[in-house]
Amino acid sequence: MKFFQRLVKPKENIETKISDFESVASFWKFITQKDKWYLEYLPQQFDDLKSKLQELAPLIIETTNDLRYNLNFKNDDYWRIIQWDNLIFDLKLEDKLKQYCSNCKNEIRLLQRHPKLICKDCKNNLTSSDGRKVEFFNSEALGYGCQGYYSETNQIERYDYDECYIDSKIFVAKEGRFGGIIIELKE
Ligand SMILES: [Zn+2]
Repeated sequence: MKFFQRLVKPKENIETKISDFESVASFWKFITQKDKWYLEYLPQQFDDLKSKLQELAPLIIETTNDLRYNLNFKNDDYWRIIQWDNLIFDLKLEDKLKQYCSNCKNEIRLLQRHPKLICKDCKNNLTSSDGRKVEFFNSEALGYGCQGYYSETNQIERYDYDECYIDSKIFVAKEGRFGGIIIELKE
């Protein structure tokens, strides 16, 4: 599913064409030369992008997979990266887009709303700040958030925080938009 189909106005003063470059690869090398290249460029800025998309696709896939592996972007900026990924959806190649657990880096299902999730195994290793295992459940009614408990207390001993830890990393638990519990790396 494609999210964040925001209408984006291209920057008026950019008239870069992919065909002005020696090759699609050299175009891609040029626009991704900065770490946060996606803050500067969106696909809508390039008139002839659609005609070069087949050639561009593997480069986009490699680059955004790498961003998701290293997680060196802010959640608030992720929609810009998604604009590039959505081109891959257009080609029905979305299976090639990868997402990784923000703790152990195992591959998990791509979820565009939440690029910094942890995997099921890591969910079992969440602790309080003093090292006791904790777990989270949905509050009784949808829309009322989630509640933490110390593990193996039969949901009796409450853990009244949404932050939790694995080693020195901090994670945040919240209710998923459609229910369930989302655990993400804290920014
Ligand atoms: Zn994991």
